[in-house]
Amino acid sequence: MRYELAGKRVLVAGMAKSGFAAVDVLLKHGAKVRAMDSKPDESMRARLAERGVELEAQSPEAFLGADLIVLSPGVPVEAVPQGAAPVIGEVELAGYDLQGPVIGITGSNGKTTTTALIGHILDNSGIACQVGGNIGTAPAAMIGASRPDQWNVLELSSFQLETIHEFRAKVGLVLNVTQNHLDRHRTIENYANAKARLLETQDESCFAVLNRDNSITASMAGRTRGQVVWFSMKTPVERGFWRHGDEIRSDSGPLMSIGEIRLRGLHNVENVMAAAAACQIAGATHEQIRAAVMTFQGVEHRIEFVRTLTGVDYYNDSKATSVDAALKAIDAFPGGLWIILGGKDKGSDYTVMREPLRAKAKAALLIGAAAPKIEKHLAGAIELVQCGDIARAVEVGHRRAAAGDTVLLAPACASFDQFRSFEHRGETFKELVRGLKE
Ligand code: ADP
Repeated sequence: MRYELAGKRVLVAGMAKSGFAAVDVLLKHGAKVRAMDSKPDESMRARLAERGVELEAQSPEAFLGADLIVLSPGVPVEAVPQGAAPVIGEVELAGYDLQGPVIGITGSNGKTTTTALIGHILDNSGIACQVGGNIGTAPAAMIGASRPDQWNVLELSSFQLETIHEFRAKVGLVLNVTQNHLDRHRTIENYANAKARLLETQDESCFAVLNRDNSITASMAGRTRGQVVWFSMKTPVERGFWRHGDEIRSDSGPLMSIGEIRLRGLHNVENVMAAAAACQIAGATHEQIRAAVMTFQGVEHRIEFVRTLTGVDYYNDSKATSVDAALKAIDAFPGGLWIILGGKDKGSDYTVMREPLRAKAKAALLIGAAAPKIEKHLAGAIELVQCGDIARAVEVGHRRAAAGDTVLLAPACASFDQFRSFEHRGETFKELVRGLKE
């Protein structure tokens, strides 16, 4: 059901980008708005005061006394005490006013890349769209620029989907579901259920784009009333896209050869197929999709090419904050790797990297707090060089790599021991690499 907003007491929890966007939507609807944050600060307070809204510190009591609660993605549903008002998420609220159809993209990995790629293909095909969600602009802040004839391409995390009731994606993509974020969702079932919400609100006019090769996403076909379009690396599908050797094929004919994709790694072939399926539904032709994919350079910090210096390539995959993502990056190169590993450990098992590194890497350059643990897990597999920090790692890579080799930042760890964020880590790496002299 859709909640009445005019004159209602609405509490917005979590005052980052989404929270502020939600406050503005609610005020426009004439709600009486209160705001809450677990770490209230003066700048938040001042920005809210301009809107005539008071800020409180988050507590179980502060959740009470409202008619409706709007949660930002950062605030877990479990924080809302029993007996409090009904809860919706910022995405659900955005859906009240957002004009134009939605392409919603979720999954454990590949969301940002696929979202950006869909935006790029639609732009280049002359199909109007705006891109946002987890990737940038909060959905509620996209309302003003939305139009009935323009697609809203939204990256949606499981946290954003947990709290939708009616929000409907004309095209919903679930790329994959792997063990991620289990700290907050507790079980893989809960986590998969949150992602499946994207499909459960669809009707017969909608489309679900699903990964046929992943048992969890394949079973989600039963959770939508929309039409299912598949993508698969392994097998032809009755409707959708699949890989056949070095080609991408579809039920409506061949799309392109894999060599024409500029993004590295087979995981990106999956992202291309998923994006192609969504864009075809939005009206793009195969020729338009192929042409746009060929010019897509990828997203910053995701196996991003930095430069070639004396025959050595430098790549920034700072977004590889998990062992899984780092393995994807290693897999994307033929060999000759000098891989920079380390950072803040997330309780990972690095021993699974031993074989892939033995096959592809000349040495691992270790940095950050996790370095001693990684050394223990990888000892004997390849040469390990304790570098301490990223500046030293770049220096060692530069000094020792030979023409044809690749220096790759794919740290398999979070960044917070030495950096503010993975973006900060990637920027630092790129600056160091750009500063190298022949
Ligand atoms: P997300 O937004 O879901 O975190 P990104 O597009 O930012 O995804 O990619 C993050 C990392 O996940 C990449 O560096 C890559 O290693 C890995 N990845 C990307 N796409 C896929 C995919 N389809 N399947 C598995 N891993 C992927």
